[in-house]
Amino acid sequence: MTVSLADILAARRAISGIALRTPLVPSPFLTKTFGQEVLLKLETTQPIGAFKLRGAVNAVAHLPEGVRGVTCCSTGNHGRGVAYAARAKGLRAVICMSELVPKAKVEGIRALGAEVRIVGRSQDEAEVESDRLVAEEGLVPISPFDDPDVVAGQGTIGLELLEDRPDLHTLLLPLSGGGLAGGIALAAKAIKPDIRCIGISMDRGAAMYESLKAGRPVEVTEVASLADSLGGGIGQDNKLTFRLCRDLLDEVVLVSEAEIYRAMQTLYYEDRLVAEGACVVGIAALQSGKLPPLEGPAATVITSRNVDMPTFTRIVTGQSVTLGDLTLEGSPYAA
Ligand SMILES: *Cc1c(COP(=O)(O)O)cnc(C)c1O
Repeated sequence: MTVSLADILAARRAISGIALRTPLVPSPFLTKTFGQEVLLKLETTQPIGAFKLRGAVNAVAHLPEGVRGVTCCSTGNHGRGVAYAARAKGLRAVICMSELVPKAKVEGIRALGAEVRIVGRSQDEAEVESDRLVAEEGLVPISPFDDPDVVAGQGTIGLELLEDRPDLHTLLLPLSGGGLAGGIALAAKAIKPDIRCIGISMDRGAAMYESLKAGRPVEVTEVASLADSLGGGIGQDNKLTFRLCRDLLDEVVLVSEAEIYRAMQTLYYEDRLVAEGACVVGIAALQSGKLPPLEGPAATVITSRNVDMPTFTRIVTGQSVTLGDLTLEGSPYAA
């Protein structure tokens, strides 16, 4: 199973008209702070508020004739993307997800006309229900990341980044299952082989990081995180994204919950953007000092605006946040 630059170019044609070409905007504050231009790719402006629409629309575009409906497991945004893409094609969509998914995301998916099934406390348990729908009701599964059409769809972000700014030196890519980082790195390195692609995850339950370290897909325990969209495993039988991330990412960096908290405040107060914890891991990595100094223009993908608003409000007002067994102390924003 492979994906090529040609597949990504074809994906761009397949998704145009449904998924948008998104703006790449400067962050004056981050540019000043880190001594190199830092740009933000605003996937928050997609019709579903997140980049996952790209992969979902491309996957639905490639379904065989006569399919009755689709299903997926999702921490939220992939479910929204599949619901939106299916509705655009007049197909039934059944979205399975775990109890850890914030309520705002569940409601968002229902509002897009999809059926929602809430099962268990992990992505893996939700997957059992989705498998049953495939076996017993003939729905077609759409993986959130480990599918060549999904990877090619997410890879269209890489085309846009380098068309807008051929001089980009570093890409800071939020990393969970690796469809986003793998697809973007594939497109970007096909166009500009020496561009640096850095994957970033939270330091609690980072499945791709642990898998790359072990040299094979491994399971991790899923825990509550401000970057809830980065939770979940990569699949024991991962076919595509483990290999892509192993071969194309120059480095994977982990950031703490406190670092994510602060980066969410930074993006809100300095750039006036509302975004999920998963989106700001690139900014958190810069602020943490865990990255080598930037050597040229850098971009990070602000992947989604579908944040749980009560949590977001607590963060930007400097209050404490409880995540399972971890309580993050409150702290007001200071530049
Ligand atoms: C899915 C998702 C990611 C990570 O994408 P993967 O392809 O799973 O690595 C990052 N941010 C948000 C908001 C997401 O929904």
